[in-house]
Amino acid sequence: MSASLASWLKPTSKGLYCALGDFFIDPRWPVARAVVTHGHGDHARRGNGHVLATPETLAIMRNRFGEEAGGTLQPLAYGEALRLGEVTVKLVPAGHVLGSAQIVLEHGGCRAVISGDYKRRADPTCAPFEVQHCDVFITEATFGLPVFRHPPDEQEIARLLHSLRLFPERAHVVGVYALGKCQRVLTLLRRHGYGDPIYLHGALMPMCRLYEELGVALGPLLPATGAKRGDLQGKIVLAPPMAISDLWARRLPDPVIAMASGWMRVKQRAKAQGVELPLVISDHADWDELFQTLHDVAAPEIWVTHGAEEAVIRQASLNGLKARALSLKGFEDDAE
Ligand SMILES: [Zn+2]
Ligand SMILES: [Zn+2]
Repeated sequence: MSASLASWLKPTSKGLYCALGDFFIDPRWPVARAVVTHGHGDHARRGNGHVLATPETLAIMRNRFGEEAGGTLQPLAYGEALRLGEVTVKLVPAGHVLGSAQIVLEHGGCRAVISGDYKRRADPTCAPFEVQHCDVFITEATFGLPVFRHPPDEQEIARLLHSLRLFPERAHVVGVYALGKCQRVLTLLRRHGYGDPIYLHGALMPMCRLYEELGVALGPLLPATGAKRGDLQGKIVLAPPMAISDLWARRLPDPVIAMASGWMRVKQRAKAQGVELPLVISDHADWDELFQTLHDVAAPEIWVTHGAEEAVIRQASLNGLKARALSLKGFEDDAE
């Protein structure tokens, strides 16, 4: 069954290509027809002729790329089926960031699921991952090593709030990616009862506004730029990862440098980035979530891409699955 699937779904230098529908999934270079899993920069790129994605992903692409988001943008809501050439395409929630989708392709009784990036734990900013049984499941492997086991989010947020109580004179600067992580940290803080205004680096503001327009409430937000030094004492400031080790952060009152990322599990990595308070909060499946997912989707065959392919393939084979690496280029292990 999968032998025939391999004849119409193939890795190419531009990305994964579906020959029966004549489109690329998350293409690396501009193509005539693209189907995009989610808005992160290594999946959604500018300049494609026609883009099919969830309405939220298209809104994110327009927010980031403006006119260059694509020639024509076609929204497809979660769960709706669309015929493209000889395949049926469906988008279902991937639980990764707002609008993120798994792409479900069906042809001749064979079903393939391209999961893009995903996670299994609850995230108040997006729809939860939906299990789709399939014949071939294409999984990411960003945190595909047994060392990566993410702790509960609540525990990490509690550590941040504890530090804030311990150091009421210090600003707490948290490095977060602009799409997804930023809004997730905001909503987790709100759920913990933190109601103070949270200060944002200017680069984070447009995506937060868009999330709010799309119905994700984030609570009171203020721009960090222009705020008086004294105002930021004992406050939380979110900034892109690049800014936290920069001059920008040093202007803040005696900052505690924190960072919210699955990579914070690796102590050397936190240290190299000058992070004093590493928070292990990830938008990708950890080792246990990866294998829980492989179990749940019950696909006899697994294709593994971006990340620690080897370890996942080895473990999947031990579990009796047929697994192989899908060598796709252009996905950054950092983009989370
Ligand atoms: Zn992503
Ligand atoms: Zn990715």
